[in-house]
Amino acid sequence: MNAVNLLDFDLEGLTAFCEQLGEKRFRATQLFRWIHHKGATDFDQMSDLAKSLRGKLQGVATLQALPVISEHVSSDGTIKWLFDVGGGNAVESVYIPEDDRATLCISSQAGCAVGCRFCSTGHQGFSRNLSTGEILAQLWYAEHTLRKRLGTTERIISNVVMMGMGEPLQNYSALVPALKVMLDDHAYGMSRRRVTVSTSGVVPMIERLEKDCPVALAVSLHAPNDPLRDELVPLNRKYPIDELLTACSSYLKAAPRDFITFEYCMLDGVNDTDEHAQQLIALVKGRINCKFNLIPFNPFPASGLLRSKPERVQAFARLLADAGLITTVRKTRGDDIDAACGQLAGEVQDRTNAQQRMQRQPVAVKVSGPVPGTRHRAAP
Ligand code: SAH
Ligand code: SF4
Repeated sequence: MNAVNLLDFDLEGLTAFCEQLGEKRFRATQLFRWIHHKGATDFDQMSDLAKSLRGKLQGVATLQALPVISEHVSSDGTIKWLFDVGGGNAVESVYIPEDDRATLCISSQAGCAVGCRFCSTGHQGFSRNLSTGEILAQLWYAEHTLRKRLGTTERIISNVVMMGMGEPLQNYSALVPALKVMLDDHAYGMSRRRVTVSTSGVVPMIERLEKDCPVALAVSLHAPNDPLRDELVPLNRKYPIDELLTACSSYLKAAPRDFITFEYCMLDGVNDTDEHAQQLIALVKGRINCKFNLIPFNPFPASGLLRSKPERVQAFARLLADAGLITTVRKTRGDDIDAACGQLAGEVQDRTNAQQRMQRQPVAVKVSGPVPGTRHRAAP
């Protein structure tokens, strides 16, 4: 029998596993705390665990962390780790310390099958989903490595954003147990407002997440109309904006005081005009409790796109704010180590076939009325 990786379990799963070994439920809680609270790396460290249980675990269970390929530390304190997930694939996580919080940005897949125009992960193609253990191993490693480094037993990471490589809602069955561990008081104890799933809009899974684990939701909108969004975020051809917004409104019914964060990557001449801002306002105003997070595009050579000018981003933000929509412009962090949004580009062995790759190609934008179409420019 292959040893199971204990990082793959939420508390319920670990309890079931311990029960199979003939152990009481509270033993699972002890074990779970050793793993996630204390960062134990082997069973011998777990001093209050009965010797008999430690004996049983040897051979049937492991704590399978991810090997670290590299670590880069930015001048602003941001740290980027590249983890080896085997088979020639590697994924990245980014630690972003701020005055009042410390956020870890986690990957959910090796690559991504959505293929957004402006995203370097999307350009790499898709290899495979990460397991729950591989998702959690990023948090486990970052939290306990930083604690050791800083010589503290206090919690370091206060927030998690599923904004690394991959589309988390296309890896739903591995994602949900990982989220549950992040929220569990016996593990990382984060409130559900401090754990954010970011999605390009997998509508049926937004509906499921609302029931299974309603954490904070960020939706990568990037365009105020379907023709433009079809081109920038190909998943829009399957789940167009109106369906997406309906799913967002319904998501908030479970937690009416919450809001959806709409992420909007600012692309010069593509989606950043006053007209686009007006369309966005018309789209969401009075329909959804939301905030906008404008992300200056982080260019990479293959995209053929340019970052909007700072004045344009400010003007766009002002239009939204004047319409009563809370709007922030995301600060770029870790620029010097390529750790900013959309620059995460671990190794990916693209396993999609030629037909799937074709589907990721942009379709021509049919521009009707005053909506400016997409202009593709050479990278600087
Ligand atoms: N797949 C999920 C989460 C990962 S991407 C999603 O798309 O939401 C996290 C965020 O980074 C998304 O809002 C994404 O649109 C944005 N992003 C991707 N590439 C970017 C780039 N080159 N510059 C700025 N933001 C980018
Ligand atoms: Fe995938 Fe998100 Fe990148 Fe789009 S932006 S390709 S959904 S990781």
